[in-house]
Amino acid sequence: MPDCCIIGGGVIGLSIARELAGRGAMVCVLTRHGERSTASWAAAGIFPPAPRHARETPAEALTGWSDELHRRWSRELLDETGIDNGLVTCGGLHVAGDDARLSALEAMATSYRDRNARCEVLGAASVPDIEPGLRDAVRRGVVVGGIFLPDETQIRPPRHLAAVRRSCHKRGVTILDGANVTAISATDGRIEGVQVTTAAGKCETVRADAYCLAAGAWAGGLTTHLNVEFETMPVRGQIALLRFPQPVLSRVINMGVDYLLPRADGRLLVGSTLEDAGFDSTTTTEAIERLRAVAATLLGDIAQASLEQVWAGLRPGSIDGLPSIGRLPGYRNGFVAAGHFRAGLHQSPGTAVLMADLITGRKPAIDLAAFAPDRKRNGRDPLMPP
Ligand SMILES: Cc1cc2nc3c(=O)[nH]c(=O)nc-3n(C[C@H](O)[C@H](O)[C@H](O)COP(=O)(O)OP(=O)(O)OC[C@H]3O[C@@H](n4cnc5c(N)ncnc54)[C@H](O)[C@@H]3O)c2cc1C
Repeated sequence: MPDCCIIGGGVIGLSIARELAGRGAMVCVLTRHGERSTASWAAAGIFPPAPRHARETPAEALTGWSDELHRRWSRELLDETGIDNGLVTCGGLHVAGDDARLSALEAMATSYRDRNARCEVLGAASVPDIEPGLRDAVRRGVVVGGIFLPDETQIRPPRHLAAVRRSCHKRGVTILDGANVTAISATDGRIEGVQVTTAAGKCETVRADAYCLAAGAWAGGLTTHLNVEFETMPVRGQIALLRFPQPVLSRVINMGVDYLLPRADGRLLVGSTLEDAGFDSTTTTEAIERLRAVAATLLGDIAQASLEQVWAGLRPGSIDGLPSIGRLPGYRNGFVAAGHFRAGLHQSPGTAVLMADLITGRKPAIDLAAFAPDRKRNGRDPLMPP
């Protein structure tokens, strides 16, 4: 019998499995969807600068610590698996199209500097010095200035997911693909087993000493089997992948909630929508056209670019915007790690270490009160950016 059964094979579940297995635990991961249907595969992979600082909020502490861990994990993953997850500090710009937005960005710059992040305010003339690909946008008056974050980083989510998965295999984790958890049974505050329909259509019960729900946007549905009130809200995000004959940008360009994310090979991700579409993870023509229009606004002529791929994923939203990392209320051997919304890739290694600490009875390095699954939540619309 495994020490721990993890429900969910996205970046959160697999990272926890990797960490636990690295500490010598026997771990089993159950995952219903193929990789491409997870938010983790669909993510853009932008990591805003997140240095640690004296007055950090619990979310900043989690992100900052995870940011540090990512640098170590990337090296370890490359050594263990031979897969380069593409982590690179390429720098990012937030650009403004009018003076009001520029003032808001200046306030954002102050807030970044207060948090120890390097940040430079740019007038229109300085923007092309940092990103020559925006010269035309400045000339047309579409960009009137911005802020530059030299430490903004990117990662390739599918490669990272593949690396963590292969590392799990190397560490002895059993991963059951196509395993749909249909019920969870418990008595007297102890989870006894999870019922699974396998890819071959067989019904099985999987038993372990501890269970961790890391099922992303679907986690809330699973807790109903345990009569625990825990809500996750799917928030759809669509992305268009454009391919240019040669690279057109080298920095991440953010404009409001939209972004252009250049890969070294000339591909450009344009994202993303924030939509309440239930559990529908299909793309829509209107959204993809809007994303192409964002690219055209910032880059001018995009006629030479081909639309290579489009996709959508379901971010696990939560009412207060914070992830839940902790013990399932009322269960001695039940845990949950879900609700990471727009930062799950970034926060995954810290979440993994914290959850492994909890499961193995160590004191977590960050106070988890703010992430307690049964905390009092102050309502907030997950479709509104923070
Ligand atoms: C378009 C888009 C852009 C994003 N950009 C970024 C970004 O730039 N930076 C960043 O940090 N984050 C980003 N995110 C957010 C990030 O992707 C998520 O926060 C993170 O991937 C959540 O990981 P997860 O493992 O919790 O969920 P998922 O990756 O969705 O995984 C959930 C897992 O649970 C499994 N599961 C569900 N139900 C069951 C069941 N009944 N039985 C068995 N298994 C089950 C699924 O099969 C899946 O394996 C983005 C997300 C999207 C959609």
